[in-house]
Amino acid sequence: MTTIAFIGLGNMGAPMALNLLKAGHTVRVFDLVPEALNKLANEGAYASKSADDACLKADVVITMLPAGKHVARLYLGSDDGENGLLNNLSNKPLIIDSSTIDAETAIAVHKACEKLGLDMIDAPVSGGVAAAQSGKLTFMCGGSKQAFEHAHDVLANMGLNIFHAGESGSGQVAKMCNNMLLAIHMIGSSEALKLGTKNGLDPKVLSEIMLASSGSNWSLEKYNPYPGVMENSPASNNYKPGFMVDLMAKDLGLAMDNATATNSNTPLGKLALEMYTQKQGQGDGQKDFSSIIELLSKNVNP
Ligand code: NAD
Repeated sequence: MTTIAFIGLGNMGAPMALNLLKAGHTVRVFDLVPEALNKLANEGAYASKSADDACLKADVVITMLPAGKHVARLYLGSDDGENGLLNNLSNKPLIIDSSTIDAETAIAVHKACEKLGLDMIDAPVSGGVAAAQSGKLTFMCGGSKQAFEHAHDVLANMGLNIFHAGESGSGQVAKMCNNMLLAIHMIGSSEALKLGTKNGLDPKVLSEIMLASSGSNWSLEKYNPYPGVMENSPASNNYKPGFMVDLMAKDLGLAMDNATATNSNTPLGKLALEMYTQKQGQGDGQKDFSSIIELLSKNVNP
């Protein structure tokens, strides 16, 4: 079995690390929050004193951190003299970063790995906490074919669908495109449901009709934003997340920064970011992202 260092044990990282333990690997974990570390230690992981300590003798290093600045600081170090993790890896482990970050940072880490002769893939995920727990994540990977093949078996312990999107940074680009589309069809589905119910239609009946028609999409099918239509959806549970408004706003921000950098035309992505930013401004950042339907509840003319 493999020795795996897992760094970042939050909502996603903790259940992913747990699945690696269940698969029989030796897992050395680290998080800045001691409670997160202790939880995994109680499940049989080795609680490391630092990220460097976690990586001692590791064959694979996996990170699941909040944003690009955390990933860059950890692997590459910082201007204020902090030494990057990559400089301290003597046994040449495979590096897998599953955080959702900007493609530029992912590519910078890839380049640093390449200089040191390390295989690396950017491997952001789709599926959320439930899929992380059940080991059914989708991984979107960027990097060389060799690095992808090297990573495949470990990823298979945490995910069901494992895609090679292309060269370094491509996993992050695929993730960014997917989540921009998700935001857009969630808002579109919300708009259609609101219009229909304003005209007196039952939201369940309208959902069924659209699901059997050309408006069908993932938001309607798996994640209906109208309360009461689906029993277990966040909408029927006071928009308890699920996937938070804050995270959707973060992902749309990455997509819009990239659209600016690549001179791409993404008007609906821009509008979606404006709407999710407005929702954050209302103090709803911690609600599920399907709560965007609440923005559409106001009459146009008061
Ligand atoms: P989280 O905030 O719950 O967890 C992040 C963890 O990283 C925290 O426990 C934090 O203490 C730790 N951390 C930060 N810097 C660290 C460092 N230098 N060393 C060690 N630990 C450090 O976030 P999350 O919900 O688990 O998300 C992780 C990543 O996955 C994010 O990039 C997010 O966008 C992405 N993602 C999240 C979801 C979701 O539904 N939550 C779904 C898909 C992708």
